[in-house]
Amino acid sequence: MKKVCVVTGGSSGIGLSIVKLFLANDYQVFNLDISASTFGEFCQCDMTNVDQVGKIIADIAKQGSIEVLVSNAGIHFSGSIENTTEAEFERVFNINVKGAYAAVKSVLPAMKAQQNGAIILMASDQALIAKHNSFAYNLSKAALASMAKTTALDYAQFNIRANAVCPGTIETPLYHQAIDNYCAKSGANKTNIHAEEAALQPLGRLGQAEEVAELVYFLASDKAKFITGSLQVIDGGYTAQ
Ligand code: NAD
Repeated sequence: MKKVCVVTGGSSGIGLSIVKLFLANDYQVFNLDISASTFGEFCQCDMTNVDQVGKIIADIAKQGSIEVLVSNAGIHFSGSIENTTEAEFERVFNINVKGAYAAVKSVLPAMKAQQNGAIILMASDQALIAKHNSFAYNLSKAALASMAKTTALDYAQFNIRANAVCPGTIETPLYHQAIDNYCAKSGANKTNIHAEEAALQPLGRLGQAEEVAELVYFLASDKAKFITGSLQVIDGGYTAQ
């Protein structure tokens, strides 16, 4: 029987690259997303609905042993604390944090029973440093870093590892959406902003989703069996500055 990997937000960007890499390595991959995708086994799921996430993951657990959870679904929102309404704050937290809570909580019974499991939470370099105009997103990603650490401590006794991946600026649909929103608000030129973003990175370019997927795959593998509770930065050197 194939090993099972559950990915949330696997229909686009980083999540899609993760789904493809685990499929290529002979995993059975379940993708929980609001948008459909043809890669892996698609489960229509809104991560903000904790009951729905629980039911879907319990069903998956009946089909095979869930070895890996990649909690990746997330949204970006631009705004200082004053420019973030309560509804916007709740939307970011419901998807980025409550969605991860739902996914992690739901895979733990199966992982405990089999005394094995790897959980990877998609945080951000913004879990480590703040970026301007990114109040709710910064806070949500710092929360995920904490979730990785507390999960690692509470479940090490069951041989379950939990780590957070902290990507810098990765060229995905989410990145383009964030730049488009900024340009629409400020009137800035997208080509210029894109070039400026690349120049801000010590390696002089943005990251690619496939590069993040490789790190996630490594963390899920036995090669990383002594790594837990860690925050793994993949940012072209951005946070080293
Ligand atoms: P993306 O927008 O390309 O993909 C996000 C996926 O999440 C989409 O498939 C979307 O449908 C899904 N999703 C959104 N809301 C959902 C919900 N309520 N329920 C289920 N699925 C939902 O974004 P991406 O750039 O690939 O980002 C993936 C993750 O990586 C996010 O958590 C993001 O915060 C994080 N991240 C991205 C970057 C970057 O620069 N792109 C940097 C650091 C961290």
